[in-house]
Amino acid sequence: MIPLVDLAAQHDQVADEVATGWAQVLKSTAFVDGPAVGQFEAEFAEYSEVAHCVAVGNGTDALELALRALGVGPGDECVLPANTFVATAEAVARAGATPVLVDCVWDTGLLDVDGLGAAITSRTKAILPVHLYGQPAPVERVRAAAPGIPVLEDAAQAQGARRGGVRAGGLGDIAATSFYPGKNLGAYGDGGAVLTGDAELAQRVRLLREHGSPRKYEHATLGFNSRLDTLQAVVLSAKLRRLDTWNAARRAAAARYDSLLSGIPDIGTPGVLEGNEPVWHLYPVRVPDRDRVLEHLRSAGIGAGIHYPTPVHLTGAFRSLGYHTGDFPVAEALSGQLLSLPLFPEITPAQQARVVETLREAL
Ligand SMILES: *Cc1c(COP(=O)(O)O)cnc(C)c1O
Repeated sequence: MIPLVDLAAQHDQVADEVATGWAQVLKSTAFVDGPAVGQFEAEFAEYSEVAHCVAVGNGTDALELALRALGVGPGDECVLPANTFVATAEAVARAGATPVLVDCVWDTGLLDVDGLGAAITSRTKAILPVHLYGQPAPVERVRAAAPGIPVLEDAAQAQGARRGGVRAGGLGDIAATSFYPGKNLGAYGDGGAVLTGDAELAQRVRLLREHGSPRKYEHATLGFNSRLDTLQAVVLSAKLRRLDTWNAARRAAAARYDSLLSGIPDIGTPGVLEGNEPVWHLYPVRVPDRDRVLEHLRSAGIGAGIHYPTPVHLTGAFRSLGYHTGDFPVAEALSGQLLSLPLFPEITPAQQARVVETLREAL
């Protein structure tokens, strides 16, 4: 068996630190808002090279609270790519605004900046470029195409990535990330964070995550309960210390796939935008007859996946937006061809060779 991601191999490396840290939390019973949370926030802000990090309950909440901090609400529109995990659109809808979609680029799967012009109206309140598969979207081109409109980065898949030397999370006005277990920086349950250089936005997110409450039992604004558990903060601090090493191992594995696959004519390997240093959350190739190929890999014990089988506009949840098949042809075509190969920091060259051999057989 070669899994798509191997969380056990990561756990082995942090098990002792997590056990020690958890024992302290259990002893102190500071399960919510214990000192480990503030410590992780400071560490992750420093790592991301932004001034403020506010930890929250999950990545979808991070997106929603960031939108609300920007003042997004009913009557507003937010532009985002059709090719993303559904949570990007969910957060916009949950904030009361309308998701407006744009197509993506064939070789990277990232938002197509050339489609922005047609999507922006006088009601556009934010743009959400998604750093999909671990590489940053071209945020500076988004800004140039839509001057003055706030940019909220969906950085859930790009912890540690850089564009033009700047870390994901520091490219826009505000950013949201997820610590879902399978992400590059994953907790042992749900978690998320908002990153921003703007102290006022950070303060608004702090209020929103905690019942709109600047002090206990004082409720200044309608809020939520969306906090990172102290136990998760312990895990995240332990893993953060290793994240650069793990991301470097992911880059080496991606480069190895690039070269192993280069001689196979039917396979499209993922493109990288100039100026990007990706962290390869996923390694999606494009193949013909994808569903049959996926079946072959799975029956050979290889845990390949599809990211994502249905573009946002064709999901049942967003049918009410009124889009149709054919509206975003690149995203639709990609959804039929993408195949994510196993990639995690500990994957071995022998495992990768077996994945490629099995893929060649299937084709
Ligand atoms: C994982 C993910 C999210 C949502 O994060 P959760 O923590 O699962 O809520 C949002 N956007 C993208 C692109 C993701 O990959």
